[in-house]
Amino acid sequence: MRYKVWRSNNDKELHLLCGEGAGAFNALPTYIRQLGPWTGSKEGDVEQLRLPLRILLAEQGFVVLHCRVSRLQLEAPKVAGLHPANVDCPECKGTGQVDQHGGLRKKTCPRCGGRGWTRSSGR
Ligand SMILES: [Zn+2]
Repeated sequence: MRYKVWRSNNDKELHLLCGEGAGAFNALPTYIRQLGPWTGSKEGDVEQLRLPLRILLAEQGFVVLHCRVSRLQLEAPKVAGLHPANVDCPECKGTGQVDQHGGLRKKTCPRCGGRGWTRSSGR
């Protein structure tokens, strides 16, 4: 499913997000359409939308946003790669061991189990 963004000619900071196509636009409540006239703006995949927007769109069929164009953030930031990268364990800095008793002894890092890395949460 695709989404489309409309921008009000009356208020340049008023944006409307709804499904793509004349059908979705015509299904909007009258009071929303009267906030226009609307000029078509960007469009994209609903899948790419940030989650709160996607939920609102699914529930209401549209989302009205009031903010500067430059601050309009519709899509979730791209996550690098499909798989989360492994990162150095923040606890032991990748060594797999942590200081014990103020550095007198070493012990296996409890956070990563001595591997020295953890799976990145990805975001
Ligand atoms: Zn560790």
